[in-house]
Amino acid sequence: MAETVYEAIVVGVGAMGSAALYQLAKRGKRVLGIDQFAPPHTLGSSHGDTRITRQAVGEGAAYVPLVMRSHELWREIEAQTGDDLYTVTGGLIIGREHQQTRHHGKENFVQQTIKLASQFQIAHEVLRVAEIKRRFPPFNLHGDEIGYYEPLAGFLRPENCIRAQLKLAERFGATLQTNTKVQGIEVTNNGLCTVITSQGRFTAEKVIISAGAWVKDFLGAEYANFINIYRQVLYWFDVSANYAAFTPEVCPIYIWMFGEADDEYLYGFPAIDGVQGGLKIAAEQMETSTDPDTVSRTVTAEETDAMYRRYVAPQFPSVSNQCVKAATCFYTVTPGSRFIIDQHPAHPQVIVASPCSGHGFKHSAAIGEVLADLVTTGSSKIDLAPFSFAQVIGTPTQSA
Ligand SMILES: Cc1cc2nc3c(=O)[nH]c(=O)nc-3n(C[C@H](O)[C@H](O)[C@H](O)COP(=O)(O)OP(=O)(O)OC[C@H]3O[C@@H](n4cnc5c(N)ncnc54)[C@H](O)[C@@H]3O)c2cc1C
Repeated sequence: MAETVYEAIVVGVGAMGSAALYQLAKRGKRVLGIDQFAPPHTLGSSHGDTRITRQAVGEGAAYVPLVMRSHELWREIEAQTGDDLYTVTGGLIIGREHQQTRHHGKENFVQQTIKLASQFQIAHEVLRVAEIKRRFPPFNLHGDEIGYYEPLAGFLRPENCIRAQLKLAERFGATLQTNTKVQGIEVTNNGLCTVITSQGRFTAEKVIISAGAWVKDFLGAEYANFINIYRQVLYWFDVSANYAAFTPEVCPIYIWMFGEADDEYLYGFPAIDGVQGGLKIAAEQMETSTDPDTVSRTVTAEETDAMYRRYVAPQFPSVSNQCVKAATCFYTVTPGSRFIIDQHPAHPQVIVASPCSGHGFKHSAAIGEVLADLVTTGSSKIDLAPFSFAQVIGTPTQSA
């Protein structure tokens, strides 16, 4: 029997890859998705119950079309599967009014967000301190804050999003091969790609690399050296004594730049898992990079204590220091915390989409659609120039 030549193979079917596999299968393409684990899993970048989504993404105007389209797609996928993916809670972004606090590579994040909301006519309110305190009593403000409130912001359930898209992909005829590690990709003289795995070799016309924190394994040093993997920790603190103030009906998702330094920042969610489920709160670190195969996944008592003392207690005095659970996760970060969604500069048959710098999940449904466009037509309706290797990293000679 002749060997199957897939129209596309997707390497890594987490957030970006499951979306791409679904979009390609929906178009009737012969596609294979391969993952070293069995997504959704807890070993990459897409676990931990919730991800923030918001429309006026202060990271830059180039991202707004991606998130807007993703919101449409999440609702479409919910309608097709009956799964619960996107919950609207409203979203609050808080900064100190006279400080130009930076977040995800953008200076003055709150003002950037307000500007983009006006530019894209996204419903929002600008809130003064008294109004934030009145509407959201658990937030312990200093008194010089400014707040951006977006009523349609909320959270996604990442595991459900991935599961739903893989289910639909298979329903539309995709082949899924889990617990299979991709060891290498070769572009042969006839222009086809050979994907070498722990379970044999597969051939495709195009390959999408959506390998998350392992993406560097598939890029030469001239690109990989510009990408860093950072271990992040998610915490759920006990909130049972004040649960009523943190339910999704009254508590928004939030991003809070509470001080001047880049790391004086936290974000979080309402308590979605009942009285005993805890309140998910996290900060970010981009100082110590790691390797996804050797990282420690244990969260120490010292880490939890430091998190509570510096980030939680001053901002949310009514939250207990008892940690209900904790998890580690990876950011895959480029210069300027931007995304790369582009053909590999040396091999146009190989498309890369993973380094999403800690803010990619909300965009992932649309990124899957964009990747399917790149495979089938070579271009996308959404402007991808800001996400090219050339824009984000530069050409190898420039960047060396
Ligand atoms: C703590 C944390 C909080 C975040 N919060 C937000 C948020 O609130 N909002 C937001 O929008 N974004 C957020 N993000 C970012 C977002 O979650 C990521 O950008 C997104 O999930 C990354 O998806 P991915 O597909 O690139 O990676 P993953 O979902 O990890 O998928 C990569 C897949 O590739 C597979 N793989 C890798 N190498 C191989 C190989 N050799 N062979 C086979 N398979 C392979 C892996 O097993 C994995 O399944 C957060 C990230 C973290 C870590």
